[in-house]
Amino acid sequence: MARVLSGIQPSGQLTLGNYIGAIQNFVKLQDEHECFYMVVDLHAVTLPQDPAALREQTESVAALYLAAGVDPSRSSIFIQSHVPAHAELGWLMTTLAYMGELERMTQFKEKAAGRESVPAGLFVYPTLMAADILVYNADLVPVGDDQKQHLELTRDLADRFNGRYGETFKLPEPYMPKVGARIMSLDDASKKMSKSNPNPNSYIALLDEPDVVRKKISRAVTDSGREVKYDPANKPEVSNLISIFAHCAGLTVEEVERRFEGQGYGPFKKELAECVVAVLEPLQARYREIRGSGELGRVLKEGAERAAEIANRTVALAKERMGFLPPR
Ligand code: ATP
Ligand code: MG
Repeated sequence: MARVLSGIQPSGQLTLGNYIGAIQNFVKLQDEHECFYMVVDLHAVTLPQDPAALREQTESVAALYLAAGVDPSRSSIFIQSHVPAHAELGWLMTTLAYMGELERMTQFKEKAAGRESVPAGLFVYPTLMAADILVYNADLVPVGDDQKQHLELTRDLADRFNGRYGETFKLPEPYMPKVGARIMSLDDASKKMSKSNPNPNSYIALLDEPDVVRKKISRAVTDSGREVKYDPANKPEVSNLISIFAHCAGLTVEEVERRFEGQGYGPFKKELAECVVAVLEPLQARYREIRGSGELGRVLKEGAERAAEIANRTVALAKERMGFLPPR
């Protein structure tokens, strides 16, 4: 069975972008693959996090995986920092990477922009992400389009390691939705929707109340036209809303266009809001049940145990190949 690995940072409230770009595929892939889904807390601290908020968000992300349909009897769900092999292989990958290639990463450039001092962890973020994937020899990595460049770097690092020390790591492939791999901000369609955006009106959080969802969608920026047409180059805002509609209603982009032919943005936005609410309401009900049940502790413990078994073996092999003296 091919192996799947992915993760989301507990750096804020999960958004519809995370759901469409990543979590929907987490659920889809678990039928026919061996899946590992983690909450990447070690990545979240590449920018400062309030300790109490980090703890709460870490649990919240794990509970949202379950609420969205990730099934712990088929998939291993765990917290990245509970499996120390990630950090250990992360260091080895950092020694393999070049400054120049890390400087080219657009996520680094975007997140470092405007900061007076840039944390070194933000710079080496992609080497830890490479370790996350390679430590399981994952075949497929369900991610949004923004992570494609990091995945290419992961393949380069794996290839470099294999060339220097002998065949050790598999080269992973990204797995992205055809439409919706990059959901854009509601207030600015030139930026992707991000949970760490300080403006909550830029995203729809999976835990937003129905009325909040309705308000955010009604305020979402559109062009001055009225045609509901998918044309990302000329109508980025409306195209983004059509992608969201298509995913939430289980329709194709063309079906959405046809449905709103000649109707204008008003009715489209109204129905879009109800579609999103129809997806989020049952998810939120399951989320509340899971948070109240105490089930999460057991799931995360078992997940980390299964993950560590594989991860520890990989790190031991990588260290042996590199010439580290094994402990006696
Ligand atoms: P942050 O702003 O803290 O980076 P984020 O919303 O970008 O948060 P991540 O934890 O960095 O979320 O990414 C989790 C997953 O969600 C990744 O697979 C990423 O590619 C995907 N993702 C994030 N934003 C979007 C988006 N706007 N559209 C589609 N997929 C997305
Ligand atoms: Mg991100």
